[in-house]
Amino acid sequence: MAKLLDPARLGEFGLIEALKHRARVAGHAWAEAIGDDAAILRPRKDHELALTADALVEGVHFRWETTDPRSLAHKTLAVNLSDLAAMGARPRGFLLSLALPPIAVPQRLDGFVAGLLGAARRFACPLVGGDIVSSPAWMFSVTAVGELPRGTALLRRGARPGDRVMLTGQVGGSALGLALLEAGAGRETGARPFVRRHLKPEPRLEAGQKLRRWGIARAALDVSDGVAQDLGHLARASGVGAELDIDRLPRPRGFGAACQKLGLEADDLALAGGEDFELLFAVPRKAPEASVFSKRLGCPVAEIGRIRGGRGVSLLRDGEPVTLARLGFDHFKPAAPSTDK
Ligand code: ADP
Ligand code: MG
Repeated sequence: MAKLLDPARLGEFGLIEALKHRARVAGHAWAEAIGDDAAILRPRKDHELALTADALVEGVHFRWETTDPRSLAHKTLAVNLSDLAAMGARPRGFLLSLALPPIAVPQRLDGFVAGLLGAARRFACPLVGGDIVSSPAWMFSVTAVGELPRGTALLRRGARPGDRVMLTGQVGGSALGLALLEAGAGRETGARPFVRRHLKPEPRLEAGQKLRRWGIARAALDVSDGVAQDLGHLARASGVGAELDIDRLPRPRGFGAACQKLGLEADDLALAGGEDFELLFAVPRKAPEASVFSKRLGCPVAEIGRIRGGRGVSLLRDGEPVTLARLGFDHFKPAAPSTDK
């Protein structure tokens, strides 16, 4: 077994050597990976690159008291890969910037790196470089690189009035998982799938690439802020409005009952609970029905609304407009630009 990754014992350069050894990048599209001044990627002919970054800061995005390092690592990579999935890109590799406090608990770093490299292998997306700095708090920042045929990326803009809005998978599960963890009920029977969904989200990589190859989607994004908000982002980028049918939002099995037990409104969570990392996309009116999408994309797909003229997102139940005052949105305006928490 490899020795624990202990920054105090290894020092910066020893740590880089150990990362290089564990990452074992071979064969891939990389002419150079960890070790030189920069990594060198050889993109395929007529392809272009998609780049995305996301950072997690201790005390802001996570607390060690409630996080296990392996899940945290999985999530750090998965949220980046979800952005690539939403563009229809195939992941090629990623950079990791590590900020370590002066006295870093080696078990945390070791667990994080093990979780990260495990996820990297599973998603065929190797660690090819990065940086290590010292800092008052822990921070993990991933920059992922994806590849796709030139000019074929799935963008947020492009939806037109009359388009139908589709969603992969289900929503609300991750927010429920977080609520269960916060209520100290993460280990109760029935809690597991929700907690897992929150801690270890699965980026829709296959579905994103299939959708891009199919060429049927006019606009797409991944659902990270909650489906209502994210539909708002898509609509705003496309310069259109949208309608969302609350009763058609697919929710995980056992979702309603578990929400009720915690005193939570299932609709609120399904609409506004974030971090489900599903794909939301607009297709022309004449596109096939959701079940055909489901077959071709290899995952559940539901039709949840439509694009219309105007601005903003309206919520409907049984075809009737509703206001969900407690969520603070009533035909809510496209969200103002905001900085991440
Ligand atoms: P420089 O001073 O030129 O930036 P560094 O000493 O920071 O070089 O990094 C040396 C090599 O180690 C580079 O190839 C870099 O990408 C890699 N590296 C540094 N930190 C990490 C990390 N956290 N994960 C993976 N590779 C890293
Ligand atoms: Mg450096």
